[in-house]
Amino acid sequence: MTERFTGTFTQQEPIPEEAIAAAVEVMRGGRLHRYNTLPGETAEAALLEQEFAALTGARYCLAVASGGYALGCALRAVGVQPGEPVLTNAFTLAPVPGAIAGAGAVPVYVGVTEDLVIDLDDLAAKADRARILMLSHMRGHLCDMDRLMAICDAAGITVIEDCAHTMGAAWNGVPSGRHGALGCYSMQTYKHVNSGEGGLLVTDDEEIAARAVMLSGSYMLYDRHLAAPGPEVFERVKYTTPNVSGRMDNLRAAILRPQLRALDTQVDRWNDRYAVVEEGLRGTPGLHLPRRPQSERYVGSSIQFLLPGWTGEAVQEVLSRCAARGVELKWFGGAEPSGFTSRYDSWRYAPSEPMPQTDRILRGLLDMRLPLTFSLEDCALIARIIRAEVGAVFQARG
Ligand SMILES: *Cc1c(COP(=O)(O)O)cnc(C)c1O
Repeated sequence: MTERFTGTFTQQEPIPEEAIAAAVEVMRGGRLHRYNTLPGETAEAALLEQEFAALTGARYCLAVASGGYALGCALRAVGVQPGEPVLTNAFTLAPVPGAIAGAGAVPVYVGVTEDLVIDLDDLAAKADRARILMLSHMRGHLCDMDRLMAICDAAGITVIEDCAHTMGAAWNGVPSGRHGALGCYSMQTYKHVNSGEGGLLVTDDEEIAARAVMLSGSYMLYDRHLAAPGPEVFERVKYTTPNVSGRMDNLRAAILRPQLRALDTQVDRWNDRYAVVEEGLRGTPGLHLPRRPQSERYVGSSIQFLLPGWTGEAVQEVLSRCAARGVELKWFGGAEPSGFTSRYDSWRYAPSEPMPQTDRILRGLLDMRLPLTFSLEDCALIARIIRAEVGAVFQARG
């Protein structure tokens, strides 16, 4: 009998009861806007920022409307100029070049390696072309952050980290988002904590922090933040920083706070699932698993593998055969953008130079979500299906 998987790759766990209770409390109070506080009251949004700053060890933290908003806010807070080139990963998702374009700047793409991290040799070669790098830890793969920071520090490049897939991850014990000048996170449903939409931004730089708070739409109510610099810093920036409204609200902050407390446990659960799929795929002929270095503490909320040198037709056949057995794979090499997935050359508003090395890798790159609603048995079954179908196509095509 042919095994079939019947789970849903887009099904997240329910919001924890404690978080639901906190949300109901906020709704009963009617004060959903973060600056709508009674005397002596602290808004849920301000508490969320304080707790996330403590969790990451950052001096300052700001909660905003989305991960993409956090990226755009970070660019403006470091003073990006219209038309300015900004280095970024060729392998990422559309909100990253979108944030750069949204700030009026121009993405300059850096290639990807077979281990699915930014190509540091390519970065070094392009380091003289920009003063900002928006580094996307795409699908949770952390590059050698020590070498990356050495390259960027030597070239005077400010690093903004896109940690949409690395909340809870670390490199050599340093939390993701804490190597660069700023770290940006997403709380959108498919990330590591879930408020539907939402973003967080952390930094140790007081001026960047004050500008980000003003940008997010604080008006002159910035003294109601618990993880922001003092009023003297705002005095320096308040007349020159526009309000680009994109605040977090108390309802979402309330459901996020209990989830942050559970983050470490969730990371372990994700990694248990990742390990089962990885083990099940290991040694499949024609299939390459990216290496995960010792220094990397990752969050296995999704898994990627390469079919190196495979034709588009053969990859497509694997996709169809897996789909027929209930296993939904995404292909980063597809010619047309589809669902959440697109390729750097899909973004025609931000033209790219030819990147043959990166194209070769993306052509064989498959990706799969691992929601926590999957059991370890589910994960083992999924791996058996992929292994069988990759094997069948590999054999048939010699
Ligand atoms: C989701 C995501 C973002 C943007 O986050 P939103 O909260 O959806 O705006 C940015 N970068 C990457 C790599 C993402 O996956």
